[in-house]
Amino acid sequence: MVESEEYNFNEIQAQWAAVRGKIRQKVGDALFKSWFKPISLISFNSGILTLSVPNQFIKTRINGEYLDLLKDHWFNQNKCIVKFKIVIVKDQSYQNNTIHSSSKRVDSSILNKNVSKGYDLNENIGASLDQRFTFSNFIVGKPNELAFAAARRVAESQDVPFNPLFLYGGVGLGKTHLMHAIAHEIKRMNPVRRVIYLSAEKFMYHFIKALRFKDTVAFKEQFRTVDVLMIDDVQFISGKESTQEEFFHTFNALVDQNKQLIISADKSPQDLEGIEERMRSRLGWGLVADIHPLTYELRLSILHAKAEKVDTKIPENVLEFLAHKITTNVRELEGALNRITAFSSLVGKEINIEMTHDLLRDLLKSSQRKVNIEQIQKKVSEHFNVKMSDMSSARRSRTVVRPRQIAMYLSKNLTSRSLPEIGRRFGNRDHTTVIHAVKKVEELRNHDVSFDEDVELLIRMLES
Ligand code: ADP
Ligand code: MG
Repeated sequence: MVESEEYNFNEIQAQWAAVRGKIRQKVGDALFKSWFKPISLISFNSGILTLSVPNQFIKTRINGEYLDLLKDHWFNQNKCIVKFKIVIVKDQSYQNNTIHSSSKRVDSSILNKNVSKGYDLNENIGASLDQRFTFSNFIVGKPNELAFAAARRVAESQDVPFNPLFLYGGVGLGKTHLMHAIAHEIKRMNPVRRVIYLSAEKFMYHFIKALRFKDTVAFKEQFRTVDVLMIDDVQFISGKESTQEEFFHTFNALVDQNKQLIISADKSPQDLEGIEERMRSRLGWGLVADIHPLTYELRLSILHAKAEKVDTKIPENVLEFLAHKITTNVRELEGALNRITAFSSLVGKEINIEMTHDLLRDLLKSSQRKVNIEQIQKKVSEHFNVKMSDMSSARRSRTVVRPRQIAMYLSKNLTSRSLPEIGRRFGNRDHTTVIHAVKKVEELRNHDVSFDEDVELLIRMLES
């Protein structure tokens, strides 16, 4: 994990904006203008916060009368400050007191290094760039090819190909991955372009803070030197109209300044709730690219790619099993893979289907719940061309015994019913009969390929 330096940088700036707002409220406009307005933020370095003032006169006054006030408010914002430094900087631009003009002077790499150590983690949520979220680690298939192509296009363009790029899709389908990939790629190809990535919640948090301190101008200023602004999960931006109004203006201002905006959400702009119509249509002006639910093929390709990266060997049939069973999203696929590789390396066993099944029982349950014993009996009887009633009859001819055993086996594996319950549903049979059936079917699956395929086919049909 690396910290996104701009973000931390913004974080300190936002704190500074909050401190100034509070102080202004406390001391009133006149005093604020004389003594605090000329102060600029220089750096936050190993716990040392450095501020600058344009002359000795102001410095003396601050030290004499306002240092505690200043410190208290800073401590409230940032618990990691251990020391304060006020330096005199005669440079004119420092007196031009926007957050922006002072920040230009800060060596952001130094700032970043120090800020990321021991800095209040809660303040940093959602701001770091994941090193693994690159284009090369992103597996492309039908469901995500448009989003992927659009993301690449934005990353490789020197200008703004479409504004905004609006990525949407269900949870765990790669939106954040693509956004980080864009950021990595831009930094690699064109390090002078400035990219800011932040969650919508963070964005709103800063924004509302700025609103409260009537400092939205400073807020917008922060983005002036940015080339690409990414806001993740905008479905969380909703609510108060006044906030949205300001957000709308900020958004437009950034677009007007030719900043590339990249927005993600779980729904299309039209379907976003709690967002003004005007904003909704504005969000759809650029390119709207959705990521569709994963197909079996894409799930399998992703599993192949991820499996290649781990040391443990994962058999093909296990990967296929996972691709069949875990249909929701990539995050769950990864979770499943991690769990079985971790287990296998801990106990030193090779990975196989049974182990996978046991380990992932809870994950698989959701798909199991959809199938019930009756459906299994119906499907199996159809498949083997026997009567449904023979599932519970006392008949013992081989033609019905085997299908019945398979149905019991499937009931055991595809539902959460207990062995006695399953026995009851198959003509009041004893649970030991069910155990016997399960063992028999497992044995046959292991020794008879065409039998195994038959069962596999039934499982697929039942789960689709
Ligand atoms: P979202 O932001 O849409 O909820 P994420 O981008 O956080 O989803 O993706 C969840 C996880 O799945 C991440 O670990 C990500 O790397 C991975 N992932 C998603 N899509 C793909 C893909 N097409 N190829 C490889 N990994 C993917
Ligand atoms: Mg995300």
